[in-house]
Amino acid sequence: MSGGFAVYVHVPFCVRRCTYCDFPVVVGMGSAERSRYLDAVAAEWASEALPAGPVTSVYFGGGTPSLADPRDIGRVLEAIGGRAPIQAGAEVTLEVNPGTVAAGSLADFRQAGVNRMSLGVQAAQPHHLRQLHREHTVAEAHLAIRQMRRAGFHNVSVDAIYGLPAQTVREWRDTLACLTSWEPEHLSLYALQVEAGTPLARAVGRGDAVLPAEDMAGDMGDLADVLLPSLGYRRYEVSNFAQPGRESRHNQAYWRHQPYIGVGAGAHSFSGPGPDGARRWWNVRHVRAYMASALAGKDPTAGEEHLSRTQLAGEFLWLGLREAAGVSESAFREVYGRSLPEAVPGVVEGLVAQHLLWRTGGRLGLTRRGFQISNQVFERFLSPNLG
Ligand code: SF4
Repeated sequence: MSGGFAVYVHVPFCVRRCTYCDFPVVVGMGSAERSRYLDAVAAEWASEALPAGPVTSVYFGGGTPSLADPRDIGRVLEAIGGRAPIQAGAEVTLEVNPGTVAAGSLADFRQAGVNRMSLGVQAAQPHHLRQLHREHTVAEAHLAIRQMRRAGFHNVSVDAIYGLPAQTVREWRDTLACLTSWEPEHLSLYALQVEAGTPLARAVGRGDAVLPAEDMAGDMGDLADVLLPSLGYRRYEVSNFAQPGRESRHNQAYWRHQPYIGVGAGAHSFSGPGPDGARRWWNVRHVRAYMASALAGKDPTAGEEHLSRTQLAGEFLWLGLREAAGVSESAFREVYGRSLPEAVPGVVEGLVAQHLLWRTGGRLGLTRRGFQISNQVFERFLSPNLG
């Protein structure tokens, strides 16, 4: 595939571990070691085999990338641009946690080349923030947005989570009202995932944390769909809403099966589809083991898998169906070499008849009801079901 590739940089420092988090992060890393970590990222990048074409987006995710020195972020961007041209106007996102960044640093991140900020807010109620071990207040989150605006950022996303322990629909409505009153260009609204081995999973197991009933969590998921369009946000993906033209280009690269290179501890990379399928590979998750390996000039890859064309076709469908615009049937044929009716006989027709999919103009996508039970729809397209 031509057309360039996306770059993900994992920045694994956090002030404190949130109760629901199972990402590879280190708490309490000092500034010298944080800089050293970004040296390791630059070293890994220098020896990566790169796909063809320019870099279309860069995403510094974490972790808490806003704890990094802006000069180190600038250095990594220079290293990236030194090996592959960064497309003019490429989206360059940095994840920020409220309270972790000074107003002056925001201007420095902008100077370094960051042009989009993604702010993790998660909830607008102090008791939920405390329970999640989030190290910030709602007021600090609001202040961070105002400071971002002053620093010249006109593309800001906020994240929130619904389905929290003991959360009510009313509280979720208040969270949405609070976040939208700050007028971000983009919102990512995720259903809580209870990951095995996290403090949250243990609290749920002990009965100390009680999750909302499934239908209540479903009502919370629907609420954004009802409230946000009148405020100028369009749901363009299962969990994402944006003002027109502010959709996340980096995430679209993932959903559209474009190649991406991930650098940093635990980061994943994807070759993009080829005639024989595709390759996906990932780095060592342990942060200091990753650093030791990359700084010694060794390959920090921990594993890889080959995706057959059948697996790719299944992924292409369920990733593409996450987007409101759905997938193109002709693009599917190009990836897979067979038409949809040949690959999954009767499945599309059945889902259309159940009003879970729409099919028009050579595209198919999820209906509103389909979005509500998207995981059940995606299961119908997993590769074992592809003929
Ligand atoms: S800030 Fe994000 S990455 Fe860090 S511990 Fe919390 S959820 Fe995990």
